[in-house]
Amino acid sequence: MKEGLNNTVLVVEDNPNNLRLITYALERAGYHVIAATTGEEGVAKVTEKQLFILMDIQLPGIDGLEATRRIRALPDYADIPIIAVTSYAMRGDREKLLAAGCTGYFEKPFDPLTIIDQIHEILRDPKNPCVS
Ligand code: MN
Repeated sequence: MKEGLNNTVLVVEDNPNNLRLITYALERAGYHVIAATTGEEGVAKVTEKQLFILMDIQLPGIDGLEATRRIRALPDYADIPIIAVTSYAMRGDREKLLAAGCTGYFEKPFDPLTIIDQIHEILRDPKNPCVS
C-alpha cells in the first residue's frame, strides 16, 4: 500500500511474525504501515501524519510503556491514539497502560481477521479502551 495523506500508521513490534501479521492485516484494510522494532525507533519515527500507533509492550530496550510516555511528552502528541498490544496478563495492567498514555489495548495472541475491527472499536470509543 502506498503512503497517502490519511492512511499512515506506526507499528512498534519486535516480533517478526507478529509484525508481519499486523502489517498484512493493516495493509489489507488500506493502511500504509511504518514499522519500528524497538521503543526508541518507535519514538523516533512518530510523525504528525500517522493516524494511530500500535505499540507492543514487551520490547528490547525501553518498553512500550516508556515509549508511550515519551511520545506523549512530545509537543503535539497528546492526542494521537496509541493502542497497546500486550501479552501481559497481570492484574493492574489496564491501569498501567492507561496511566502511561495508551488509548486502549488488546491482548496477544491476536486474530489477524478481527484485529482491524478491534482497532476501529478502540478508535471509535476511547472511553471503553479495553478490547480483548
Ligand atoms: Mn514484543
